[in-house]
Amino acid sequence: MKWRCPYCRQEVEVQRLEDLPFLPFCCERCKMADLHGWLSGRYVISRPMEEGDFGDASAAEQEPPPPAAPLRGDPSEN
Ligand SMILES: [Zn+2]
Repeated sequence: MKWRCPYCRQEVEVQRLEDLPFLPFCCERCKMADLHGWLSGRYVISRPMEEGDFGDASAAEQEPPPPAAPLRGDPSEN
């Protein structure tokens, strides 16, 4: 049967899909390239922005600084 690699669109002849070591890709290169595409955000899920996506915008702008961590080993005490 013919199998078309979803990445490079190259047709490969295989007896069974299980014969493809990098299923569903024709080779390791395509598999890694496709994976890299996902990781680098090439395939972002696009949909209309909604107000709820970022929570309360006005509250986010007024985010208080994190509480200061207590100093340990203050050199001024020596
Ligand atoms: Zn391929």
